[in-house]
Amino acid sequence: MARTAGSVGSLDDTRASRRSTLRSGFRVGRIFGIEIHIDPSWIFIFILVTWNLAAGFAAMHPGWGFGLQIGLAILAAFVFFGSVLTHELSHSLVAQARGLPVKRITLFLFGGVSNIEREPNSPGSEFLISVVGPLTSLLLGGLFLTVGGMFAGGRLAALGNPAAAFSGLDPAATILLWLGSINVTLGLFNLVPGFPLDGGRILRSILWAATRDLRRATRWASQVGQLVGWLFVFSGLAMMFGARVPALGTGVGGGLWIALIGWFLRSAAATSYKQLLIEDLLEDVPVARLMRADVRTVEPELPVSDLVYDFMLGTDERAFPVVDRGKLAGLVTIEDVRKVPRDSWPSTRVSQIMTPAEKLAVVGPRQDASEALHELTRRDVRQLPVVENGKLVGLLRRRDIVRWLRLQSDVAA
Ligand SMILES: [Zn+2]
Repeated sequence: MARTAGSVGSLDDTRASRRSTLRSGFRVGRIFGIEIHIDPSWIFIFILVTWNLAAGFAAMHPGWGFGLQIGLAILAAFVFFGSVLTHELSHSLVAQARGLPVKRITLFLFGGVSNIEREPNSPGSEFLISVVGPLTSLLLGGLFLTVGGMFAGGRLAALGNPAAAFSGLDPAATILLWLGSINVTLGLFNLVPGFPLDGGRILRSILWAATRDLRRATRWASQVGQLVGWLFVFSGLAMMFGARVPALGTGVGGGLWIALIGWFLRSAAATSYKQLLIEDLLEDVPVARLMRADVRTVEPELPVSDLVYDFMLGTDERAFPVVDRGKLAGLVTIEDVRKVPRDSWPSTRVSQIMTPAEKLAVVGPRQDASEALHELTRRDVRQLPVVENGKLVGLLRRRDIVRWLRLQSDVAA
């Protein structure tokens, strides 16, 4: 459904890592080299969908019995989420085919997010990666509807009384027709131009091709996205107050749902816009300008107790580069110290608890600060050692970037 590409995410230093574990959810498997994760909120929506379906079956087919109603509801909910996964996989596979690595798909409350590691490099790639998702959902929907219609046979012809026609359907036709309509809805909803949803990305790729300017295209697409979001919010509110909106209907429940979706679209588009502003402010700013050059470093043989009492206490520094004979050997942080029981501090060396250099992400002093921010977010770390010719020249912290942004405008506030 939605996709992130090296998004800036939260700039809030303290909450960043917790938010990211919440966001990535728990891992359920791996397909085509892509990790499949499930967001905790997914369990809630799964129960809600199952419950709703079972209630619907109970109302329409009282003769089925409770076991069959709940069993079918669970089966249909599973196939539905399989459909959402297929939608996400289609994005990911096209992205991979266009040379963009995909690490993870997270299924969450409103569908899924594919973590594509970079922004597409051309309008054509972006268009193909975006359009394949809704097309997959529409295709799946069409398939389910066709097979469901075959199972239903002539009974759907009794259109004079739809309720009677539906209650006459057998279990297979019932869930196939439901899966068909929900997939068609999913496909159509994703075509709504609410950036960063698929429709918004399709719009951006077209604007990008027309203007040859990704920044301007993103700005316009996210503004259209916010507008569309507000339109949904107002339509939903109008429905709650009894108005009949074309294609959406009327009613308090439906209206509330539409308004919530609108609010979600609006805030997603606003976040994309904010990220764009942040990237604008960091463009052409070298890392060297934002980093701390006077970094206190420690030696690998230093006992953890000395690290705590001589280095960490009395400063607000959370991380210390470990340097061995002039070369960066690793990085040791407060979090590393926390894992060591206090009794073992004097007998444990920094080298035993640090993250070794080969596992660290580093940046160069002349690199763009916006690239460094991508790296901070992607790795979900608070700081990056700045290295030139194998030698440590500074430390770039997330909060150094935040301070720079605050000095220039209020976007990061
Ligand atoms: Zn999608």
